[in-house]
Amino acid sequence: MALHIEKIAKSRISEVDFNNLQFGHEFTDHMFECDFEDGEWQNPVIKPYQPILFDPSAKVFHYGQAVFEGMKAYKDDDDKIWLFRPEQNQERINISAERLDMPSFPKDLFFEGLTTLLKIDSEWIQKGEGNSLYIRPFIIATEHGISASASNRYKFMIICSPVQAYYAGEVRVVIADKYSRSANGGVGYAKAAGNYAGSFYPARLAREKGFQQVVWTDSCTHEYLEEAGVMNVFFRINNTLLTAPTSDRILDGITRKSIIQFLESEGIDIEVRPIKVTEIVEAARKGELLEMFGAGTAAVVSPILGFSHQGENFELPKVENSYASFIKKSITAIQQNKAEDKFGWRYEV
Ligand code: PMP
Repeated sequence: MALHIEKIAKSRISEVDFNNLQFGHEFTDHMFECDFEDGEWQNPVIKPYQPILFDPSAKVFHYGQAVFEGMKAYKDDDDKIWLFRPEQNQERINISAERLDMPSFPKDLFFEGLTTLLKIDSEWIQKGEGNSLYIRPFIIATEHGISASASNRYKFMIICSPVQAYYAGEVRVVIADKYSRSANGGVGYAKAAGNYAGSFYPARLAREKGFQQVVWTDSCTHEYLEEAGVMNVFFRINNTLLTAPTSDRILDGITRKSIIQFLESEGIDIEVRPIKVTEIVEAARKGELLEMFGAGTAAVVSPILGFSHQGENFELPKVENSYASFIKKSITAIQQNKAEDKFGWRYEV
């Protein structure tokens, strides 16, 4: 199946102020598109970034049959372009698609579309500290008709957005004790669009109370800590890091699994096990909860300065030897080809 390429007449890059980018707001000149029709993926094309036209009854609008991915490309000082463990994103979008009863997207086409698009839009990947290109692959149900059943037609797309270092500002979180983002047997482990829609309202309530994010707990008892906003979450008690095991309810984050592997190789104590809210509250009371941070593609590591649980607020101490900054520095250096890649995580485009 030949990839058709249609280039833009004039690049829009000169209109973009790369020093003042709002996260995920500007998009590159081109996008990749491929349609699923008559039981197969067909007509892969790279074309100028533009709106897409759908029938108002398209199933994605009514039943949220949509999955997505998030990944980043970096440019090093020699103008080489690098991705970080992209095969993991390729596998995960198909894990998500299966759960939403959508067809899987072929690996070779994923990589051909992605790497060709990145080469065509390579000018948009800026060098320098913190700069990268955020890549958003997604699949949506395009069949028209509002019967509540899986679509027979889909569109796979990749769009790309230049971004600067992601800084969320000071982050304090509320530990969820009413709302949940996912449940046993549900779709929490998938990057399904609806998971995010459902998290916005509890996040708004948290913001209204002065907290920037929600730490999600298990939906049955709210006794166990699971994720922080749209990131996996780590806790440091004394010199041990803790993170919850993946499950039906937790996204198998690529940053999370890389951090675990990295910490093991550094000889830093890391325990992957269910973490009780009470354990963290007690550690905070004793001054033994030294750090909390979210882990995900956008920020790599995002420190959390304090939390609220059932109306009581806790503030974390300032630590000298922060694990969060050590991890962020080390992983970022590997991603940007500034450190040895002993795990084989980098992928040259
Ligand atoms: N949890 C959720 C719910 C997410 O949306 C993300 C972002 N993809 C993550 C965790 C972190 O995953 P990753 O490290 O693969 O970006």
